[in-house]
Amino acid sequence: MACLARTLRRGSGDLSEELSGGVGGAAALEPLVAAVLSALADGAALRGGPLPAGLPQDIAAAVAEEFLAGEGGGGAGGAAACPGAVLSRFARLLAAGSADPAHPGCAAHLHCPPLAVAVAADLAVSALNPSQDSWDQAPAATALETLLIGELAGMAGYDPGRAAGVLTSGGTESNLMGLMLARDRVLGAVTGRRVEMSGVAGGPRPRVLASAAAHFSVQRAAAVLGLGEDAVIPVPVDRNLRMREGELAALLDSCRRRGQVPVAVVATAGTTDTGAVDPLRACAELAAAHGAWLHVDAAYGGGALLSDRLAPLLDGIGAADSLSLDWHKLGWQPAAAGVFLVRESETYASLARRAVYLNPADDEEAGYPSLLGLSLRTTRRADAFKIAVTLRTLGREGLGRLVDACHDLARAGARTVQEHPRLELHAEPVLTAFLFRYVGGGAAHEPAALDHLNASLRRRLLREGRAVVGRTELPGEGPGRVRLKLTLLNPHTTPAEVARLLHAVVAAGRAEEDLL
Ligand SMILES: *Cc1c(COP(=O)(O)O)cnc(C)c1O
Repeated sequence: MACLARTLRRGSGDLSEELSGGVGGAAALEPLVAAVLSALADGAALRGGPLPAGLPQDIAAAVAEEFLAGEGGGGAGGAAACPGAVLSRFARLLAAGSADPAHPGCAAHLHCPPLAVAVAADLAVSALNPSQDSWDQAPAATALETLLIGELAGMAGYDPGRAAGVLTSGGTESNLMGLMLARDRVLGAVTGRRVEMSGVAGGPRPRVLASAAAHFSVQRAAAVLGLGEDAVIPVPVDRNLRMREGELAALLDSCRRRGQVPVAVVATAGTTDTGAVDPLRACAELAAAHGAWLHVDAAYGGGALLSDRLAPLLDGIGAADSLSLDWHKLGWQPAAAGVFLVRESETYASLARRAVYLNPADDEEAGYPSLLGLSLRTTRRADAFKIAVTLRTLGREGLGRLVDACHDLARAGARTVQEHPRLELHAEPVLTAFLFRYVGGGAAHEPAALDHLNASLRRRLLREGRAVVGRTELPGEGPGRVRLKLTLLNPHTTPAEVARLLHAVVAAGRAEEDLL
């Protein structure tokens, strides 16, 4: 392959040292982007399926071969490696070695196939590299993030004039922020001081109530915040993993009776495994009655706000003190596109910081806005940009159609499962995911054997490069809880393709059953 650098040499510069910005940046990027695009097509064709066939060590060996072959290519004294050639090789390697959510057979996780328009928008952000920690690093992107946050707040039922928020790395960071603001507000009142670890240790025991199916990042956030991982009390759930409101009420009462402080109730709007939505209105009323903060983790289910059909599931979400939304799930954005919102901007106070080199008071008085105090991060990508472009390209209606298409697909997949004698559906899909398992034919298997069968049929599908299917466990103890999961996030997949995927699951199940 002819070295692209030669065709692009300008003055004494070499393409490997060209920059992406300025008037000349676009010309430097053009052949490189063209090289990436053709390598992506080649790599996807090479892969052929939803993921590369083989064991982890096979994939790792292929990656090591490519990575180590280029060692020293651009080293001191040596000739710089041709950047177009390296880029092409690595992009082909990445594409051939990816689990591609745009393939109908890749349907395990909340791992969406990004919209091309969002990826192209993100290229502009990468090229210009605005950083949202000060206005003078991101003049337009600062204004755009503020406008987008207002619009998303309105969509969630908040008053955009009073709400505030920020783009985050995702639900994990958003949940941490929600619990941090909850801790600061509630324990600040209890101890009379703010964020005093001694106050936390010496005062009444702080508690966070979240369903047994809440995301694991809730426990981790409690640990990070010094409340202790075991500060989180799991609230029992029903069969579809929805929080039981009676149990929440009882646990809040028992907290009070023991002299503990319920700092926050975390309601999940769209559990990761089943898409179940906790009773948001009841959670809001109970949290308010006990002086607790309500954080709603809508990392997955927030996408329902885009759909007229599904939005009623989130009824009451506007009563949350804070919210997590992930546009890199039901929003078709490349990661990261997390959003954190608070209903009342004053509740953000404990995060505010003055850094003299980023947001000096006199700059703010002179009308230069700062987003610094809205985030736990300092340097921060302009992730709002791709969301803004997508929202204006498709509109809420267009995005809602994509959400509805995935919901329809999940329902069609669930019917296929119900109609198949070797498959067992756990529960009807709420959003775009459902749990099921392979139960085999003939004599019934023991629960532990079924767990083994389902776990191993999934690894077989991975090894053969045939399908990426999720695997999880129902809450509780003992064998028989392993379930497979389909998370349908590709709106272009057809019901026939989902049926084919389920038939591949059955074929892998039969093959594993033969080994028993
Ligand atoms: C995905 C998910 C998270 C974590 O979000 P990240 O974007 O991966 O950090 C949190 N909560 C729920 C319910 C999720 O589905």
